[in-house]
Amino acid sequence: MVNKIEHIGIAVKNIDDANVLFEKLLGVPSYKMETVETENVVTSFFQTGTNKIELLMATNPESAIARFLEKKGEGIHHIAFDVEDIQAEITRLKNEGFVLITDVPKKGADNKLVVFLHPKNTNGVLVELCQEIK
Ligand code: ZN
Repeated sequence: MVNKIEHIGIAVKNIDDANVLFEKLLGVPSYKMETVETENVVTSFFQTGTNKIELLMATNPESAIARFLEKKGEGIHHIAFDVEDIQAEITRLKNEGFVLITDVPKKGADNKLVVFLHPKNTNGVLVELCQEIK
């Protein structure tokens, strides 16, 4: 079962500038910055109430974020849903005909196991499933 929206991911060109902007917008500073080497991204997290925003900046041109920025420019990159059991969700969604970008969950930012669904099956929205690592 898919729980609440865990966060919304936003692709940015310059994370320092975006941190300043989002701090002004939300009235709270980023509570965590984290580099995910395997994804070639730097992330920054903001929390307001139960809502979470993840800013993502590419660390090199090989990054999926770099390719996204090239194609679409800055903006909403993905929506992440919190799941209890990511493996069970992968199996369930594959049986429903969804295509995953990677079949095996990877360690993402913010202490999560993550997988992404291919946006071609999700109305153009890149969907992330994330399960907290306990
Ligand atoms: Zn995310």
